[in-house]
Amino acid sequence: MATPTSDGGRAANTHRRAQRGLTRLLVRDMRSLRRLIIPSRLEQTVPEWIEAVRALVEQYGAASSSLSADYYEAERIAAAVTGRFTVPLAGPPPDEQVENSLRWATKDVYPRDPEDPATTDAQRQPMDVRLEQAEKKAEAVAQRLVTDQGRGTVQEAVRQDRQATAWARSAALGACSFCKLLASRGAVYKQDTAKFRSHDGCHCGVVPVFKGQRFELSDHASEWARIYREYAAPYPGDQLNRFRRALAELGHLPAL
Ligand SMILES: [Zn+2]
Repeated sequence: MATPTSDGGRAANTHRRAQRGLTRLLVRDMRSLRRLIIPSRLEQTVPEWIEAVRALVEQYGAASSSLSADYYEAERIAAAVTGRFTVPLAGPPPDEQVENSLRWATKDVYPRDPEDPATTDAQRQPMDVRLEQAEKKAEAVAQRLVTDQGRGTVQEAVRQDRQATAWARSAALGACSFCKLLASRGAVYKQDTAKFRSHDGCHCGVVPVFKGQRFELSDHASEWARIYREYAAPYPGDQLNRFRRALAELGHLPAL
């Protein structure tokens, strides 16, 4: 008999929360690295900080990947499919990608000539404000890199596992409208080359679907799908905006 699975099932929710918990620890550790940045010696200390954060991203990314592998294996057992399968763990993003992202996050901390018309408002802020902004951006970047590694592990397992047929996106009730829209599409078949689309601050999960399983869209994702069909689908070019407004008007928070 087909076992049901869902984007809003207990295992999917628990896994998403575990990944989110991991990124909270990542942020906590990142904050303790802040003291490495010395405002009077930015040119030297920001690169040192970037290297320390990169090492953290590597460490947390590996943890995210193995959390995902455990989740995948448990889901595979629950689906009672046959045959053995070893989940390949997604590796870390290339050092250069992490470094470039962190350099982007910290680009406004360096002093600029306030008279130069090219100097932006962000660059005119006092040092503590610029550092705070940079830290926030860096945290979002690091969270995404870490969580993408875990999500990549589930997606790659679905691609390689002959017993897996599809994956679905699991979005929290507080997810943004972009993620709600993608989650409302349900199970995407693995032949579909669609990549998982994430963004900074995205905590969505990837739910594997196995042979013999029946995927059921959760009540909340069904409701998002209905809202999209009714308020957004008929308006090509403005669908995401319309969907966002409809969610807000119908009381689906947050209205992002
Ligand atoms: Zn998301």
